[in-house]
Amino acid sequence: MTDTTQSGRPLPALTDLNRTYWTSGAAGVWRLQRCPDCERLIHPPALRCQYDNAVPEWADMSGRGTVESWTVNRHPFYPGIPTPYVIAFVNPVEDPRARVLTNLVDVDPSRIFRGMPVRVAFVVGSDDSDDDVYLPMFSPESR
Ligand SMILES: [Zn+2]
Repeated sequence: MTDTTQSGRPLPALTDLNRTYWTSGAAGVWRLQRCPDCERLIHPPALRCQYDNAVPEWADMSGRGTVESWTVNRHPFYPGIPTPYVIAFVNPVEDPRARVLTNLVDVDPSRIFRGMPVRVAFVVGSDDSDDDVYLPMFSPESR
């Protein structure tokens, strides 16, 4: 589940609010915020639930989701990210209303479909200035 190669890609700056999201892969677990009142998953990380203002809690996900939409990028925006690559919205199975912007990896772009089952695959990045970042990406779920 974990790709230990240095990704060479731009990494998110870790903050008190987003640190759990970007580092939970170190334990092999994908974590998202969940509202304790309405039980919706919340992403990106927020201080309050946008529906009822409750304070979200971090919850372990199964790592499984489905593809909501995607696009294939062929333009080399960053030297550290070889093209083409797939940008996608993935809905976690625990709450398909939640939408996570991510990349699909180890996939033939011509075979992607809406609702395709995927599973998290962490790509590790480090810039030596803070904790390693575990980028949650997704690959087709093997059947
Ligand atoms: Zn809520």
